[in-house]
Amino acid sequence: MKLRYEEVSLHLKHTFRLHGGSKDRVKVLIAYLEHEGLIGLGEADPSKYYGETPESVKKVWDKIDFSNHQDPFLYETIYNDLKTQFPDDHAALAGIDIAMLDWMAKYRHLPLYQFLGLHKEAIPVTSFTIGHAPKQELIKKVKEAEPFHILKIKLGTDFDQDIIESVRQLTDKPIRVDANEGWTREEALEKIQWLSDKNVQFVEQPLKKEDIEGNAWLKERVSLPLFADESARTVEDVFKIKDAFDGVVIKLVKAGGIQNAVEMTRLAHKYKLKTLLSCFLETSIAISAAAHISPLFDYADLDGHLLVSDDPFEGLTLENGKVMVSDKPGLGIERRNDR
Ligand code: MG
Repeated sequence: MKLRYEEVSLHLKHTFRLHGGSKDRVKVLIAYLEHEGLIGLGEADPSKYYGETPESVKKVWDKIDFSNHQDPFLYETIYNDLKTQFPDDHAALAGIDIAMLDWMAKYRHLPLYQFLGLHKEAIPVTSFTIGHAPKQELIKKVKEAEPFHILKIKLGTDFDQDIIESVRQLTDKPIRVDANEGWTREEALEKIQWLSDKNVQFVEQPLKKEDIEGNAWLKERVSLPLFADESARTVEDVFKIKDAFDGVVIKLVKAGGIQNAVEMTRLAHKYKLKTLLSCFLETSIAISAAAHISPLFDYADLDGHLLVSDDPFEGLTLENGKVMVSDKPGLGIERRNDR
């Protein structure tokens, strides 16, 4: 096997603001894993939050001697080797994991969901994310979100109630709220109680990621389900947070790839936690990988490629509010002709 990679700058349609920062572009790395003339596509979206950068991903990928690994069908062995060598480099691991699975499914001439024994019909509808924005921009974004059945609204600001009230003047669609660790315990209690009759499905990460105990306290006092995102990166974290939350947000890049994400959702379901498969700002490669396994999750939030103005790849469609994969082999993703 041979690995080649490319760094790609993605520009966002709108500045993306949330509690803890804002961005106009992101850098991602595309993996091309070649074996027997067939190429598996993968993607790593390094998250600064978890201490990863494009450079740290490249460093890991440069260190792997793929000539030692004869065949992507040794997936399990190869992935476990890499996980032992680079336990904290989840974005780098995810890129290789996705590329191996794309390769295997392509080799078998099956779309990835079928290769994994999943049903396309069970893909959940996706939410569309709206970051912090001044009122006029917010109105524009809600209008742009017309094709989506559910909105995800980023909160954790000093004007959270204004944001929700502005959105509610425009639409009565169900809302998912994400505070990105932006509230104190008392503030979260007050805001979530206020949100409880606003057609909100659930609230993501109200408190700091370390405050699991605070979340257990909050869970006893509010009626809306609480989901752990920043608090749950690994399978071990799912076990740690299981009594303090009602659900878990799982992302391929955060988890370290498809294998870990699937393990997390299975464990979460065992503890009666709901699962949301989410994403970062990504190209269609990483979003497609997620969409193919999304039938295993209760909810989906797979809009990362839609927030980007220059995704170099294509292959996904939007059907009745669902991010739909194609029936081409593997991820079903190809480079756009004009890029
Ligand atoms: Mg979140």
